[in-house]
Amino acid sequence: MIYEGKAITVKEIEGGILQLNFDLEGESVNKFNRQTIEDLKAAVEAIQGQNGVKGLVLSSSKDVFIVGADITEFTDTFKLPEEELVAANIEVNKIFSSVEDLPFPTVAAINGIALGGGFEICLTCDYRVMSEKAKVGLPEVKLGIYPGWGGTVRLPRLIGADNAIEWIAATKEKKAAVALKEGAVDAVVAPEKLLDAAVDLVKRACEGEIDYKARREEKTGKLKLNPMESMMVFETAKGFIAGQTKGQYPAPIEAIKAMQKHAGMTRDKALEVEAKGFAKMAKTSIAESLIGLFLNDQLLKKKAKEMPKTEPVKKAAVLGAGIMGGGIAYQSALKGTPIIMKDINQAGIDLGLSEANKLLAKRVEKGRMKPDAAGKVLNNIIPALTYSEFGDVDVIVEAVVENPKVKKAVLAEVEGLVSEDTIITSNTSTISIDLLAEGLKRPENFLGMHFFNPVHMMPLVEIIRGKKTSDEAVAKVVAYAQAMGKTPVVVNDCPGFLVNRVLFPYFGGFAGLLRDGANFQKVDKVMEKFGWPMGPAYLLDVVGMDTAVHANEVMAEGFPDRMKADYKSAMQVLFENDRYGQKNDKGFYAYELDRKGKQKKVVDESVYGLIKDVVADEKDFSDEEIIERVMVPMCIETVRCLEEGIVEDPAEADMGLIFGIGFPPFRGGALRYIDSMGLDKFCEIADKYADLGKLYHPTEKMRDMAKKGEKYFG
Ligand code: NAD
Repeated sequence: MIYEGKAITVKEIEGGILQLNFDLEGESVNKFNRQTIEDLKAAVEAIQGQNGVKGLVLSSSKDVFIVGADITEFTDTFKLPEEELVAANIEVNKIFSSVEDLPFPTVAAINGIALGGGFEICLTCDYRVMSEKAKVGLPEVKLGIYPGWGGTVRLPRLIGADNAIEWIAATKEKKAAVALKEGAVDAVVAPEKLLDAAVDLVKRACEGEIDYKARREEKTGKLKLNPMESMMVFETAKGFIAGQTKGQYPAPIEAIKAMQKHAGMTRDKALEVEAKGFAKMAKTSIAESLIGLFLNDQLLKKKAKEMPKTEPVKKAAVLGAGIMGGGIAYQSALKGTPIIMKDINQAGIDLGLSEANKLLAKRVEKGRMKPDAAGKVLNNIIPALTYSEFGDVDVIVEAVVENPKVKKAVLAEVEGLVSEDTIITSNTSTISIDLLAEGLKRPENFLGMHFFNPVHMMPLVEIIRGKKTSDEAVAKVVAYAQAMGKTPVVVNDCPGFLVNRVLFPYFGGFAGLLRDGANFQKVDKVMEKFGWPMGPAYLLDVVGMDTAVHANEVMAEGFPDRMKADYKSAMQVLFENDRYGQKNDKGFYAYELDRKGKQKKVVDESVYGLIKDVVADEKDFSDEEIIERVMVPMCIETVRCLEEGIVEDPAEADMGLIFGIGFPPFRGGALRYIDSMGLDKFCEIADKYADLGKLYHPTEKMRDMAKKGEKYFG
């Protein structure tokens, strides 16, 4: 053994050919944490000290090659001052470049996924051989940063600037065939032939059959583009991406700028340019938010793992084949859990099945599914008008109309017909889980399972624990939600649970703005620029004015001190005028079908006339005031949910908002948003609007935390 560390070993495999193998101790995957970097430095030094070395193969003995840098270390590292971050990057780059500069041919044998830093180390090698099963890519911009260990330097020199821009900006993992076609790897082989193929390449390079030195020169030299080509490639890409990211995600543009700037430089100078841009991105609040999101997701997964062990759900049932029931049945069947879809009338079932059929046909049309697989999914939905097949059902989701009386009757009926172990859930969006549990014999087996519309698109499922719900029941439903490909967030019971409880104060802020003379189209524009997928007026049209007005009543009853309005809102007026939103083609906007048959939003001037009696004369509000008046109530309500234990952890609250209602991910969620401006500043802003009512009053604890300079995320 030439080197033996905790992450890396180096040994001779045959006649002067060495193998540097990644196998990080105590972990299921390889990643570039501090240990691996230290090991890499020491391993290269050990190799440099050897005589008679002919070549080197990089490999991994885990299922993955290297998944990337250790993101859990980012939060601390990125706290370093910008200059220190640049220096730290240059240090790692020196180690990476020392692999590239070894005086013999080097080959990476990529057996499994190699992403981010994991792929960047492969790029230092002269050649790359890839298993058919492996995937490679540079997904860093998803985290608000960009490849910082040579990715922006080596990849364009290897596969051309246009391809490299696409790899880095689009962040997609590339399958072996694509990587080969675009020149990012040199050969693709069956997994069992990988090491032999890598050794063979080393030998061919040693024998002069292939010119590894020329390869290396190309990769460490200047980018081969004339100034005209350079301008075309980089400027076009910057324009295109700026359009797509609406200025909210600067990292891909910065990556292109770095590539453009260092195109005329050789490796070491180019790496310095890359490091400077990288450090600049790492210090943005956007990177902090997006990295926070990743860590939040890890935390949710960890919490799910720590729950009591349960058997996977083998068969489920949904009651009600409407918008939600149909969507839930489709999603469960798609992900492999057979599900009975029961309704009281055949028309409902036909509608549910035809919706599922449409979604499956779209998948087939897009080439994402074979027709026979789509057929199997459809067979996994078992339509029913009776309970006759409910005997062996593990989990039931009730999704009938939002009426406590109907729901209670349906729940009690089904409870009497199923096994004692069956877990029953309700998809109610507002009714208290404890209230619905009142008539049940086994309330410990009952809880909320709140999906969002449209079910197949929205990643969140709110799991609502009632006072009597057992841990086992929660664990089972969390596991079922995960099996459906969703992100479950467990919350405690209260009106609106977490997501609707914080959404309605936001609508309350919006209603107040309209009352005081704001133009709803302007509010939508400002909030979309802020990062929401749609502004509040448009969102209300999507939710449905009838649904929103009804839910608002429930919320006002639950929290009269701040959610009961003492004025008639524009939403109420639209509701009374049968403007329900997208569902009947008229709400704040009107909806028409475009050429592709999709609903298109158009301005309907008549709305201004309808609401004129409940709104003040139009007044011009600044963007800042609009943002503050809708965001402050939402943020304060999120804090209340945390303080009251509706949600256990700040991470869960923020994930709920991002995945449930599309809170701008680059702002990290309501609590991260407060952190990014500081609680003291937030309270100062809220106090400007104190006269607007309790929705704008920070809690005592918030003020206390502000005084102490505390944050929600460490
Ligand atoms: P919907 O009106 O589209 O569907 C309700 C279905 O339930 C109908 O097909 C009806 O025939 C059926 N039904 C009525 N009584 C029944 C019974 N006793 N047994 C079986 N089926 C019965 O309603 P929806 O929008 O799908 O909403 C269903 C539930 O989901 C409600 O509680 C709602 O609050 C909740 N929810 C709705 C949304 C949304 O955006 N639509 C989002 C989240 C949660």
